[in-house]
Amino acid sequence: MSKDIFAIIEHRQGKIQDVSLEILTKARQLSGETGGQTVAVILGSDADEIARSLTTAADKILYVENEKLAHLHSDYYREALSSIIDERKPLLTIFGHTSASFEIAPSLAAHLDIPIITNCVDFHIDGEKVIAKVPLYGGKIDSEYSFDVQNGGIISLLQGAVKAEDGQKSGEVEKISFTFDKDFDSKEFLGFIEAAAGEIDITQAEKIVSVGRGIKDEENIALVKDFAESIGAVLACSRPIVDAGWLPNERQVGSSGKTVKPKLYIALGISGAFQHLAGMKNADTIIAVNKDPNAPIFSVAHYGIVEDMFKVIPALKQKIEEMK
Ligand SMILES: Cc1cc2nc3c(=O)[nH]c(=O)nc-3n(C[C@H](O)[C@H](O)[C@H](O)COP(=O)(O)OP(=O)(O)OC[C@H]3O[C@@H](n4cnc5c(N)ncnc54)[C@H](O)[C@@H]3O)c2cc1C
Repeated sequence: MSKDIFAIIEHRQGKIQDVSLEILTKARQLSGETGGQTVAVILGSDADEIARSLTTAADKILYVENEKLAHLHSDYYREALSSIIDERKPLLTIFGHTSASFEIAPSLAAHLDIPIITNCVDFHIDGEKVIAKVPLYGGKIDSEYSFDVQNGGIISLLQGAVKAEDGQKSGEVEKISFTFDKDFDSKEFLGFIEAAAGEIDITQAEKIVSVGRGIKDEENIALVKDFAESIGAVLACSRPIVDAGWLPNERQVGSSGKTVKPKLYIALGISGAFQHLAGMKNADTIIAVNKDPNAPIFSVAHYGIVEDMFKVIPALKQKIEEMK
């Protein structure tokens, strides 16, 4: 087993995903402790430029090339990764916790017969063990898991868990022309479908009023929309509101929605699950309204109101009208 830390880089249409820069930051921290190398692993075809763009981020950029790796195909990805991991034996392999890694990482762990912990907000290596923190029940409690690293292991880290930092490395690209012994033709990449451009881009908004499940009913959305308009803010929401079909998905803030950094973010009836915080915790000023004083949203809020939002919204609106 080497002391190296592998970070599996996700890229789409020539662009590296933000979470990959976050896991690289974590990999650099860990390899500093283990004395091994930070290795960025890129699977693809025609991805030389992407590989070269990571030379300051890792000690080595392992570019595994084959035209079958041009787009995400979990069987080919698993096959290539298991061969590389089996041969190089990294101490730990880190994925971003994304829909792509949902598909690859667990089957890779099963294939290699090594342990895996997914959906982590934090983890560290303590001697022979990896100890990881995983949020449960929408972030209301954290659980702790560990595994022995003597045979390696896999971790998937949630987006936003680590702040991406620039590296100071001068890594080299090692390109491997990979060949597959067999074809996996039960599924096929057909093409990318761009999400339809929404009517509004919440990432550009200076003021956001965001609504969560505390709103209870679709018909109450109008109340929040009216409040947002009265202060010149854009309306956004947590994921359950999109899942219920009450607002379109271009309004969703969080790890599977948009990341926003407005001057003002007002969270109404949002608990503050980790996936939501990942998309808004860097707003300049956060005001949270929630009936539950223990709601995690208060851990990132600059101002908190523990109260029923149906009382707070009209009171705030009236006060603002008086000040106009
Ligand atoms: C892979 C994955 C990706 C995800 N991505 C996202 C994402 O991008 N964005 C996202 O938001 N979530 C995401 N989630 C879901 C996330 O885990 C939470 O379930 C979700 O954020 C909870 O939304 P919420 O806070 O609106 O609802 P809840 O957690 O149900 O919270 C509702 C809150 O409203 C409060 N409340 C109730 N009534 C009132 C009232 N009258 N006045 C004031 N407060 C009240 C309650 O105290 C509670 O805190 C994801 C989950 C997974 C597994």
